[in-house]
Amino acid sequence: MIKQFKPTWMVNAIYDLQPAKLKSMGIKAVFTDLDNTVIPWNNPDGTPQLRTWLAELAKFNIRLVVISNNKHARVARAVHNLELEFISRAFKPSPSGINRALNRYHLRNEDVIMVGDQILTDVWASNNAHVRSVLVKPLVDSDAWVTKFNRKLEIIIMKALRKRYPDLKWQEEIK
Ligand SMILES: [Mg+2]
Repeated sequence: MIKQFKPTWMVNAIYDLQPAKLKSMGIKAVFTDLDNTVIPWNNPDGTPQLRTWLAELAKFNIRLVVISNNKHARVARAVHNLELEFISRAFKPSPSGINRALNRYHLRNEDVIMVGDQILTDVWASNNAHVRSVLVKPLVDSDAWVTKFNRKLEIIIMKALRKRYPDLKWQEEIK
């Protein structure tokens, strides 16, 4: 049961994923959650750190696709300045958004990783889609109210995960 909530890796932030390393692992695209993973949920402007990382990804020809449960207009507005590709209304933890992205870009499950700050949406959706996942820490501590409720559940799930998988740890990078 707890297996469906297990992330493949856990790192502090999306910027900790080194594009050169991803390339060497054969990863062709990074799928990512929007709020609190790529940008703080209450601040839609990308940081210089994000822009540097995006440029590095592009250099290695790795595609970035935002996969968000938010509606089209909200996601479009959030990613407009960064010119990111996106899927809206992904219905995570359903695999439907991830599958739509795989189909759209002609990618196989093993070509991608999915990054997100929530076990109950991002990690669960990844496992449902049979895609490797990276759990990151939320960029800001405050959350929208729905997320606050999920966070309480996630603390309980994380305890069960640590018990079942003692090797599951926050890492500097994925390996
Ligand atoms: Mg999020």
